[in-house]
Amino acid sequence: MEPRSAAAAGKDFPYTLGTTCYIEVHKDGRVTQGARTDAYQRALAGESRLFAVWPGQWRSDLFAIDDLDEFARAHGIVHDEGRTGLADHVHDVEWALTARESNPRSQYVSIDLRLACGCSVNARRTFAAQMREQRGWDMAVTGGWGRQTDENGTTYTFRVRRRSLSS
Ligand SMILES: [Zn+2]
Repeated sequence: MEPRSAAAAGKDFPYTLGTTCYIEVHKDGRVTQGARTDAYQRALAGESRLFAVWPGQWRSDLFAIDDLDEFARAHGIVHDEGRTGLADHVHDVEWALTARESNPRSQYVSIDLRLACGCSVNARRTFAAQMREQRGWDMAVTGGWGRQTDENGTTYTFRVRRRSLSS
């Protein structure tokens, strides 16, 4: 039986689910498990083919990873503005310490942040990686964060390591 098509499953395909098992079949017939950037590059170059087992409750199906663009966007190998809401540019950031921030000794402080460049934060990890690169911020990527939209736009609340803010 031919494997099913991941492309046909579209956005529903669980590319990043921890239990999705990737199989790479190399040109020479070798079979390896797991797939990240190097596997993507080999598949793109036609040196291997990628498959994945999508585990189900009653049965698991084998899929051909036939949409490599979608695979790469899902894994953050290529930047995906549509998925993250974030352009691949230096963001125009306005921020201030949250007014209710009271403990002067806590490692992390809350900040209110607005994006004047028109981006929106749909993927906190991607935004945190961009802020680390652009401003040296050490943003928390676990725990709560806030998003409030009013007539002036959207204000986000993030936790950022205090020392990384002042540097
Ligand atoms: Zn932006």
